Amino acid sequence: MAKYYQPEIETASREQILQWQNERLVAQVRRVWDNVPYYREKMEEKGVTPADIRGVADLHKLPFLSKDDLRQAYPYGLLGTPLKDCVRIHSTSGTTGKRVVAFYTQHDVDLWEDCCARAIVAAGGTQEDVCQVAYGYGLFTGGSGMHGGSHKVGCLTLPLSSGNTDRQLQFMVDLGSTILCCTPSYAAYLGESIHEQGLRDQIKLKAGIFGAEAWSESMRREIEHSLGIKAYDIYGLTETSGPGVAYECEAQTGMHINEDHFIAEIIDPNTGEVLPEGSKGELVFTAITKEAFPLLRYRTRDICVLTREPCPCGRTHVKMSKPMGRSDDMLIVKGVNVFPSQIEAVLLDQGYPANYQIIVDRVNHSDTLEVMVEMTPETFSDSLGKITEMEKNLVSSLKAMLGIYAKVRLVAPQSIARSEGKAVRIIDKRKI
Ligand SMILES: [Zn+2]
Repeated sequence: MAKYYQPEIETASREQILQWQNERLVAQVRRVWDNVPYYREKMEEKGVTPADIRGVADLHKLPFLSKDDLRQAYPYGLLGTPLKDCVRIHSTSGTTGKRVVAFYTQHDVDLWEDCCARAIVAAGGTQEDVCQVAYGYGLFTGGSGMHGGSHKVGCLTLPLSSGNTDRQLQFMVDLGSTILCCTPSYAAYLGESIHEQGLRDQIKLKAGIFGAEAWSESMRREIEHSLGIKAYDIYGLTETSGPGVAYECEAQTGMHINEDHFIAEIIDPNTGEVLPEGSKGELVFTAITKEAFPLLRYRTRDICVLTREPCPCGRTHVKMSKPMGRSDDMLIVKGVNVFPSQIEAVLLDQGYPANYQIIVDRVNHSDTLEVMVEMTPETFSDSLGKITEMEKNLVSSLKAMLGIYAKVRLVAPQSIARSEGKAVRIIDKRKI
């Protein structure tokens, strides 16, 4: 059996996991204090020294790191080891500003690949499997991470990288790929192409591990149906090594976080206060085993919920929900956190296109929420006399999702103003 395979870690008792986290956190804080002047200064500003951190219970005393810190410290300011000990970099796409560059020692790469291997095993992977890695290779972490994990499991690894769909399908058929790793949107596209080319009977896929972009439960069902597989979610960020920070098991009810390597917290994105278990808030990670890029209390900006309810799979590590949105997009309406992605999920689930506009206003000191939704050309021509009923259905589904009333207005296709081809999602009149 491959060296990574350590089920006793994934099913360890809560006490054992806490003991690992306590010991590793204390050592990590000391290492960062000694080696990362940027973070040491932040600790000094808060009046915290390594002596104050005796375990996970003291974690909240440490300062946060954000993407802005990573940009300010670009490129070497957060290195935890001498550059000569680093063997690789990966980088974000830089679509939302300056690129983030993350560094890895050989030890970091090994542990990262172990995490990815756990994800593949949780999706049913063994050394009998043929694992087609159709995530991009290169600066992006997706390809390398799943490639390394697939090696550790002992799968036959097909390093296809992304794109070139005809070649993907040819290898999938000729070599009998059983596990597919790629973005969910590419999986959906491959599914369509397989149907168009009449290849459905010739593919042997049984599982897919999809991540690196947001996807809904309805998209999961579509992909599972079109590829005839079970589709598993995986989570990670370049800043925390890449995919494999958390991964789904066969229960498909959240992703187990590799708690022997990462400590997860949920905070209020506005106040930074740590929230009790089960609360919805911003996910924060502390990497306790990473050497080259040891981020402490890194704010992911992803909004989710953590749960320690026992999982039927037997794994004991805490589970995170699929991210429900970004803390930057969060609206507070009547004191309730509202994310555009929640509204989008309801619309897609009921067969509406994701063309909508959220209008928030304040009338007589009270917030109002209105959602304007474009119909598809088919539903529009079919909607005569039914609009009120359709709107009512959406109102009750939105209330179930958000917990507050939202007025719904169905409008004709293409009638919501677009800027640069994209509908303007949020109009917050309280700020105007
Ligand atoms: Zn599980």
